[in-house]
Amino acid sequence: MIQIKDLHKSYHMGSNSLHVLKGINFNVKEGELVSIMGSSGSGKSTLLNILGMLDEADRGSYVLDGVPIKNLNEKIAAKYRNEFLGFIFQSFNLINYKTAVDNVALPMFYKGINRKERVEKARHYLEKVGLADWSHHLPSELSGGQKQRVAIARALASEPKVLLADEPTGALDTKTSYEVMDLIQGINDEGKTILVVTHEEDIAHMTKRIVNLKDGVIIDDSPVEQVRAKQHV
Ligand code: ADP
Ligand code: MG
Repeated sequence: MIQIKDLHKSYHMGSNSLHVLKGINFNVKEGELVSIMGSSGSGKSTLLNILGMLDEADRGSYVLDGVPIKNLNEKIAAKYRNEFLGFIFQSFNLINYKTAVDNVALPMFYKGINRKERVEKARHYLEKVGLADWSHHLPSELSGGQKQRVAIARALASEPKVLLADEPTGALDTKTSYEVMDLIQGINDEGKTILVVTHEEDIAHMTKRIVNLKDGVIIDDSPVEQVRAKQHV
């Protein structure tokens, strides 16, 4: 599903430059649930933004679902982004003056889906995340966990091949974090390919494979059982 080879990325600020990704190699197969774990500043968001086609690498290759992602014009990039990818963010990114159902339905408007179908699908996905009774509430009337569920429903509604989540539990308390991760696990059980960026080890342990990023380099990439076994030695 995802193949990246020798990915490099630097940021340039005036005469300074910061080499953030220093040759990243990894593949993700269809149906995997992978975490990219590392401390703050290790390059996780930079990597996820490249995978999400929100940014481009300086060097290396990225193939998504068989399509080389390189020098695409903005229109084609937007098309692939809409078709292939769903995004979940730490800060939910909901529209405050729209109800849950309208938040979930909005991206489908931009895909040209008619109103009836948009609302039907939005209701379906809200039900899936356990919020059927909350569809007419505004984000301000929802808890953090409920807001993230709305954001997950919104990401699912576009039926992406891959879900990309950047610190999806970063703004939630521990119990709510685990509930959101339970939901993400359930979505993965149904076959969805999911990448979760986190700096929290317990969250990473709720995925099936942990890619450990440190200072822009992958220092470990192992199935979660193997990571656990090593820690218990
Ligand atoms: P993480 O998500 O793991 O915390 P990031 O990928 O956000 O790490 O950032 C990695 C490094 O790159 C940090 O030192 C950060 O300050 C820097 N950085 C991130 N985005 C930019 C940017 N747009 N311009 C300059 N520096 C950036
Ligand atoms: Mg980050």
